[in-house]
Amino acid sequence: MTRVGFRWLERGSCRHPEVMTMAGGSLCSVDFPALVGVIEHPTRGVFLFDTGYDPAFFEATKPFPERLYRWTTPVAIDEGQEWLAWLAAHAIDETSISGTIISHFHGDHVAGMRHLADKPVYCARAGLTELRKPGRFGRVRQGLISALVPKRADANARFFEDAPAQTLSSAFAPFEEGRDILGDGRLLAVELPGHCVGHWGLAFVTQEDQPVLLAADAVWSGRSITERRAPPRITTALLGNTKAYRSTLNLLSEAASNNGDLAILPSHCRASVKSLCQCDDT
Ligand SMILES: [Zn+2]
Repeated sequence: MTRVGFRWLERGSCRHPEVMTMAGGSLCSVDFPALVGVIEHPTRGVFLFDTGYDPAFFEATKPFPERLYRWTTPVAIDEGQEWLAWLAAHAIDETSISGTIISHFHGDHVAGMRHLADKPVYCARAGLTELRKPGRFGRVRQGLISALVPKRADANARFFEDAPAQTLSSAFAPFEEGRDILGDGRLLAVELPGHCVGHWGLAFVTQEDQPVLLAADAVWSGRSITERRAPPRITTALLGNTKAYRSTLNLLSEAASNNGDLAILPSHCRASVKSLCQCDDT
């Protein structure tokens, strides 16, 4: 695989009891960052993997039933994480952003889509279809806030399911195949079923020759992978499919133990930021 630049940066955070994210975890609330991948393609600009939180989240969760999301998952965004301040803090030129790659449509992954809806949106058709289904209560129960993704983004969607299949290198085994979303073999979307409908990760190799699998919410922490500790059934069944979730966790765990060089990065694992060589430490 040819290589890309990569940074793994925080944009907002939320609090959950740890036990909801990993069986046997603490009952205490733990701070979970929302991490955004900044992928610098050598010729096609910058792609964001998810958007993290955004002040738009507070607007969108003012009415009921969307307010339930905010009550059950308290969110924090500091001033430095507002869109323009966040871009400036990380020296990202807004005009250089060529598109977003959305792992799935939970609010903490798409809250910033209002800034990016006019650019190509690489995502799962299954996930976007679920987001647009009627029934606000049903959507909120699944962690979906439709208003966070402006309708005009739908016209800019490029679906993973339609991209050509490409065999992954052995560095990602036992994962075998990805979808070549840009058509040049650099960014391969990998389906990681179970967390919710239309949940995908992204495989690539960095300029430092580091194979990376962005695992989104297939797990909440690296510890879950090494210890093969899934969240309790009540969490996985509420949002997605428990059997598929556990099967994906087993594959991630196998990949981690087979390939010492592979960085598997869950979207809410602060330790995963430290596991990478970052160009800035913020
Ligand atoms: Zn999620």
